[in-house]
Amino acid sequence: MNEPPQRKRSGFRLDHFLPFQRTSSKPQQKTVATSVRKLLRRIGPTMLSSPVRRVVQTFCFLLFAWLFFYVCWPYHAKPQAVGSIQEGWRIAEFDQNSGGLSLEREDGAKDLHAGQKRFLVDQGAAVGRFNITAIEGKRVRLMPDAPLSAKQIDQMLFGAGPWALHETEPGKWPSHYTDDLARKEIVPAETFLIIDPLVSLSTAIAARSWVWSLVCAGIILAVCVLIPRGFCGYLCPLGTLIDLFDWAIGRRVTRFRVAKDGWWVHIKYYLLLAVLIAAFGGVLISGYVAAIPVITRGLLFIGEPLQSGFAREWHLVPSMNAGHVVSILLFLGVLALGLLKPRFWCKYVCPSGAVFSVANLFRVSERKVESSCINCNKCVTICPFDAIKPDFTTRVTDCTLCQTCGGVCPTHSIKFVDRWHVMDLKAVNDPPTGETALGRRGFMSLITGSGIGVAGGGAIAATTKLWGANLDDPNAFHPVRPPGSVPEPAFLDMCIRCGECFKACPNNVLQAEGFEQGLEGLWAPMVKADWAGCESSCNACGQVCPTGAIRALPLAEKKVARMGLAIVDQHACLPHANREACQLCVDECHAAGYHAIEFVQVHTEVDAAGQPIEGTGHLAPVVLTDKCVGCGICQTRCYGINGLEKNLLKQSAIIIKAGEGREDRLMTGSYLKLREAEALRSKPGS
Ligand code: SF4
Ligand code: SF4
Ligand code: SF4
Repeated sequence: MNEPPQRKRSGFRLDHFLPFQRTSSKPQQKTVATSVRKLLRRIGPTMLSSPVRRVVQTFCFLLFAWLFFYVCWPYHAKPQAVGSIQEGWRIAEFDQNSGGLSLEREDGAKDLHAGQKRFLVDQGAAVGRFNITAIEGKRVRLMPDAPLSAKQIDQMLFGAGPWALHETEPGKWPSHYTDDLARKEIVPAETFLIIDPLVSLSTAIAARSWVWSLVCAGIILAVCVLIPRGFCGYLCPLGTLIDLFDWAIGRRVTRFRVAKDGWWVHIKYYLLLAVLIAAFGGVLISGYVAAIPVITRGLLFIGEPLQSGFAREWHLVPSMNAGHVVSILLFLGVLALGLLKPRFWCKYVCPSGAVFSVANLFRVSERKVESSCINCNKCVTICPFDAIKPDFTTRVTDCTLCQTCGGVCPTHSIKFVDRWHVMDLKAVNDPPTGETALGRRGFMSLITGSGIGVAGGGAIAATTKLWGANLDDPNAFHPVRPPGSVPEPAFLDMCIRCGECFKACPNNVLQAEGFEQGLEGLWAPMVKADWAGCESSCNACGQVCPTGAIRALPLAEKKVARMGLAIVDQHACLPHANREACQLCVDECHAAGYHAIEFVQVHTEVDAAGQPIEGTGHLAPVVLTDKCVGCGICQTRCYGINGLEKNLLKQSAIIIKAGEGREDRLMTGSYLKLREAEALRSKPGS
């Protein structure tokens, strides 16, 4: 007996396929809609059936590429021009109360006008910024921008002169890399990384600490309660790249035949389990397999060298190590899975996708099929996620609400509605499929897979720790980490190996670690000071790091955060070894504004009376440990000139070393305050 039709109840609907995609029984007239439909059909059937999704996907992919290749491309930054300088002034009048003054010189006020702002400079140091209020013959009248402090008034009264007027502030800490990133970052560069929930979740578990990106992961999971697995269907750039790859190989390549069902269909859950177990064991492996780090690292190791090579110079592209090769193979492997089935990675392997599949259990909307379904099978054939069962009902954990099926349904029987929506549903198991919720084989496979996931995660955690960084061993390898990196054990647990910091780092100061710390440090960023030193005007790495492994420090804080300590090898250093004069490192350090290397006189010969013989000996560098931040520019210069260019040394004679006592690694708190406290402690009598 036929059951009476259920009464329809109002709720919300999420159908958003465009009207022009529907076929009509009326004879086709050539309209704009038919032309658009024809064009979309030529691009691909899913383009025609769910154009909204394809538009959103395209937008997200372009946004991702823009963030990665434009925002994280530091070479738009240009150092500020020095501007005009007028020298040789003397103070003719100075009013201490108002701060107003008159300057005078023989050449007069050439090129100066009332209304301009200038820095008043004595002996290279700026006293303050002044407005030019009037020009009177050879005199310039100025008023301070802000009331003068007692110190500034003293400088004015006792400054030796002659004074200079500078258009830009001399000696100001440069900030062009920082400013350039801030200018371009309308949307945070790490946006896609912070919305991959596996990134935040596993980092927080492994580091046993709060990670701010959990908020973003929470928001995206909440959105996906409304649009189940919408991240995979609409937002994920890796998913879109896989779609592009599948489209490119299309029918040109014969795919391997993979059965519709088997143990592999649940790999993503087992992988997710392994990642979480490893994270509980204090080892972060999600960066190897989570969707967004896989694509960012893939593009970093393949796309960035191409971008650098073409846009700059090929010799500026650093060489690869074994770690790069492994990462590239992993990335290509993800794409190559498309040879088994379109979107094989997304359907069966991606653990980030698995998080959304689990979240689908709490969905408030879903795909429903009305009784008007005629069993044409079109929806099953076109579904990109294998989310439709043979009886045309929905595998709710796999459906991404992409609505491609709705676009091809000739009877408009597929609806995307709230979960509790009452409608005339198609009967389950019609046509009969013989499927049971979980058969004996399915149950066994679930138990075995979960066991492997748990054991695998535990084994990876144990192996990684056993042949890992060995942080307690003082002789173990201690890489120099980016400025503002949290303490090393936390860093290894928080760095997701996405490579975003490498991409934003000018001159490839940061490069990927290989197997020096076993698996534990693989692909983590380390400073390669032989290649380049950390730029004094840059704090980009911390700004783009999605997990806080590198803290987002303001430039003033970054400037004093010690990455390591420069150590002079006195056997190799040319003046120390009495080979020849050299002051490359000293000059570099002073030019960067650190002033952390001084000279001492060495190898001075003395006469019979014990007096130094003029012209003998050398000035040799000594590092001031309280001022050196380990930026590495001294090492870069020494290696570049004395090593590569002049062939005098095999390696730099000044090397940055990290480790206990040589670096500041704070989880929280201010580096400026740390420095101030150190300075107070080192004062005599304190
Ligand atoms: S399954 Fe993974 S790679 Fe595929 S779309 Fe979802 S998150 Fe992206
Ligand atoms: S390592 Fe230095 S130069 Fe590189 S991104 Fe970080 S702050 Fe900038
Ligand atoms: S330290 Fe670099 S590689 Fe690691 S998570 Fe941060 S941005 Fe990514």
